[in-house]
Amino acid sequence: MIKFCNLFSGSSGNSTYIESENAKILVDAGVSCLKITKALASIGVELDEINAIIISHEHIDHTKGLTTIAKKHNTPIYATPKTWSNMESLKIDENCRRTFEAGETFEIADIKVESFSIPHDAADPCGFSIYAGGKKVTVATDIGHVEDSLIDQMSGSDMVLVESNYDCDTLLCGPYPYCLKKRILSDVGHLSNEATSKLVRRLYEAGVSNFVLGHLSKENNFPELAYQTVLNEINSSKQKTPFNLSIAKRDTIDDVMEIV
Ligand SMILES: [Zn+2]
Ligand SMILES: [Zn+2]
Repeated sequence: MIKFCNLFSGSSGNSTYIESENAKILVDAGVSCLKITKALASIGVELDEINAIIISHEHIDHTKGLTTIAKKHNTPIYATPKTWSNMESLKIDENCRRTFEAGETFEIADIKVESFSIPHDAADPCGFSIYAGGKKVTVATDIGHVEDSLIDQMSGSDMVLVESNYDCDTLLCGPYPYCLKKRILSDVGHLSNEATSKLVRRLYEAGVSNFVLGHLSKENNFPELAYQTVLNEINSSKQKTPFNLSIAKRDTIDDVMEIV
């Protein structure tokens, strides 16, 4: 069994809680230590119980809380060497630092973490497939474009948290400066609702049936639009098997999902 709870999701900060029988971990810690402490408390977990934090990449919306968490709680933090060298400014104590190479699999108690590279404009960005109790959960946000290897990696998951970052028209007509729009639209930026819907459909047809859409842009997306775009695409598939689709909330704590 895996317990899964999205604590925060979006360009303003990301953190996902995952629990197995013997371990509790976070994927990313992109909001303050205080906010994470409160979010965990609301699901009955203390930060001191967290066995490890695994970091997808160095962008602030994934790392904001790390300095204080490391200082106050001494939590082991896992990142690739290249990501660590881009997080020097966070001044995290050596004692808390753990490393893995992108593509490597490592263990935290009874949790097996399989890391895989994703295309994004960071030093060494990774997604993670997390295995425990015979279940597999994959978390992949900040994806510039979808390659077949990503589908292969995510296939077989009992649940997938994937980004659905922006609506193309909203982004293009929105207030962001041109260079930022260009960055988001690029091959190493983020996934549009449209691109995510195609990815989800392929995963659905490969047998995945639980999807959470996350990392929605506050300025360039609407939760209903992301949801509807993906839902329409799944419904247009010839396959008619049951599925669950939801949106990870930006900063209210989602319910804890039990994947059994
Ligand atoms: Zn990023
Ligand atoms: Zn991000």
